[in-house]
Amino acid sequence: MTGLPAEIPGNVKDLLTAGLARPCRYAGSRPGCQLLAAVCYGPVALCAACDQRRSTLGKGQAPARLPDPAALLEITAARDACQQAEAALRHAVGRARQAGHPWSTVAAVLAISRQAAWQRFAGGHR
Ligand SMILES: [Zn+2]
Repeated sequence: MTGLPAEIPGNVKDLLTAGLARPCRYAGSRPGCQLLAAVCYGPVALCAACDQRRSTLGKGQAPARLPDPAALLEITAARDACQQAEAALRHAVGRARQAGHPWSTVAAVLAISRQAAWQRFAGGHR
C-alpha cells in the first residue's frame, strides 16, 4: 500500500486500508489511475482506466472481473450523506425545541410517536 498519492480521496483510502477493495497495480504511479482495481490478470489487479491502457500485460489472458469498486464508493458517499442528514436533523430538532415547540409537534412532523422523538433526540434527559 505504499506509493498512494497524498490527494487520494478519503473514502477510497478507507476502502483500501481496510482491505475492502484491491488497489490498482499503478495506484500512485500513473496519472489518471482510478486506484481501485476492477479486473485481475492473474496476480495483477488493474483499475478500469489502467485496464483500458494496458498493452502487453495479460495479453491473450482473459481478465477476471472484480465486483465494481464504484458501487462501494456509492455506499460510502450515501453513508456520509446519512450522517450529515442525521446531524442536520438533530440540530433542527434542537432549534425547534428551543423555539418552544413541544415534543408532540416535533414528533408529528417526523411522523413518529412523541415517546420515540423524545428518546431519540432528548437523549433520555427531560
Ligand atoms: Zn490504475
